[in-house]
Amino acid sequence: MTEVLTLEHVVAGGAVAGPPALTQTNPADPDDLRVEVPEADARLIANAADAAREAVGDLQTAGVEARADGLARVGRMLMADADALAELIARETGKVLGDARGEVVRAARIFDFFAGEALRNVGERFASTRPGVMVEVDYAPVGVVGLITPWNFPIAIPAWKIAPALSFGNAVVWKPSEVSSATAAALMAIIRRAVLPPGVVNMVLGGGAAGAAVIACEGVDAISFTGSERTGAAVRRAALERGVRVQAEMGGVNGLIILADADLDNAIDCAINGAFFAAGQRCTATSRILVEAAVADEVTERLLQRMGVLVMADPRAAGAQVGPLASLRQKATVTAQLQAIEATGLRPVVGGSGVDAPNAFFKPTLFVDAPLSSPLSHEEIFGPVAALFRVDDFDAAIAALNVNRFGLSAGLCTTSLARAEAFKLRAQAGMLMINQPTAGVDYHAPFGGVAASSYGPREQGRQAREFYTSVRTTYQLPL
Ligand code: NAD
Repeated sequence: MTEVLTLEHVVAGGAVAGPPALTQTNPADPDDLRVEVPEADARLIANAADAAREAVGDLQTAGVEARADGLARVGRMLMADADALAELIARETGKVLGDARGEVVRAARIFDFFAGEALRNVGERFASTRPGVMVEVDYAPVGVVGLITPWNFPIAIPAWKIAPALSFGNAVVWKPSEVSSATAAALMAIIRRAVLPPGVVNMVLGGGAAGAAVIACEGVDAISFTGSERTGAAVRRAALERGVRVQAEMGGVNGLIILADADLDNAIDCAINGAFFAAGQRCTATSRILVEAAVADEVTERLLQRMGVLVMADPRAAGAQVGPLASLRQKATVTAQLQAIEATGLRPVVGGSGVDAPNAFFKPTLFVDAPLSSPLSHEEIFGPVAALFRVDDFDAAIAALNVNRFGLSAGLCTTSLARAEAFKLRAQAGMLMINQPTAGVDYHAPFGGVAASSYGPREQGRQAREFYTSVRTTYQLPL
């Protein structure tokens, strides 16, 4: 029998019901789970912002140790509930169970990391150029932060926004993705149980309209967004029009260069992992494999052999490596993008829009030797789709890598130290992966891209403080 989860918003620590407006089903098995999601309106969001404003004061009164303790409690509870949460993520978004569990553990560690950061939020004090006067620099909270998150890391991305926001003394109005709202509600339940002041995190559910209403809300002082380039551009425009601080992490068409001197076993592992794991639904996924001509035939052959044995299966099945796309809508989007490319005469050597797959499953797809001018070089396809391009040498590989407007993650497989150093200088990307897959990052290191992939300060690691605080400079004649 289908399990139905009817969700509610959470404002000022209490649940607020609303009529179901949107639905998400298990993308691998629609008869298993249906999630019914209400849509927040401007009034509810204004109430959420008011509750958050009050909570900013409560956080200040409670002090940094209480904040650190609350965040650490969330981390411990996430760890304790990891199996159940992973199961829910698998059922709601199609992520394979092992990856889903890894994501929950990562979210737990993010809360733990930012528990420590609350105590390390130190400033400095130094002498003014005016005799007798002292200068103090400290980092004040921004206030009420609006968070808008996508579905592809339904618990880790909210964690890497909520945890630093709270750590530095802000309160939150959070609009999770309509595709992963049940997972969001499960995280929200843990945050409530962790006895942080009520109103410190308010969850307003819904789709794009609710997201737009969060940005338009007068009570929201800053916006942190993760999602597609298109939505990100609209978010940025709306936030800047209101004159509020905005951070936007968006997509990429990430390239992995494989040079002839590379350890090819590792290079093939990197390409398969980066392009097809998580069904290609990672912003850092490998979309382009740029291979030096001398090894291009061998790499193509070995990739096809590995793709042939990839296990596409129910995300909860033992041994599943590739689950479905997150929704039928996402499958329709990827199918339409591939149909447009195939209509230009380009044909994948395996997979493609015409291959039948049940529910939201999509067969891993590889194009070989498409022209660099094709959309495969320039447009993000958020699914298990990659294109292999043959390049003459290292210089041609770098030129091909930098050909599009994005710059999130870029990879290089080589055994040459000189090439690795040159890659660091010449690759246009915020995250560089040498003999590593383009996807897969640490929670204590800064995360983000350049060019069209990112706008505003970096997320995660110690750099997260920049967005969530305002630098305050005080000049004082000692009393
Ligand atoms: P999306 O842009 O469709 O939606 C993201 C969020 O924005 C959702 O909560 C959605 O409801 C909301 N939204 C939609 N329209 C809005 C509007 N007009 N105003 C305000 N909010 C609005 O993205 P998605 O499909 O959920 O996620 C996939 C995308 O996210 C991919 O492009 C991927 O590359 C990107 N992504 C980027 C990163 C990163 O850190 N760079 C990480 C993960 C995913």
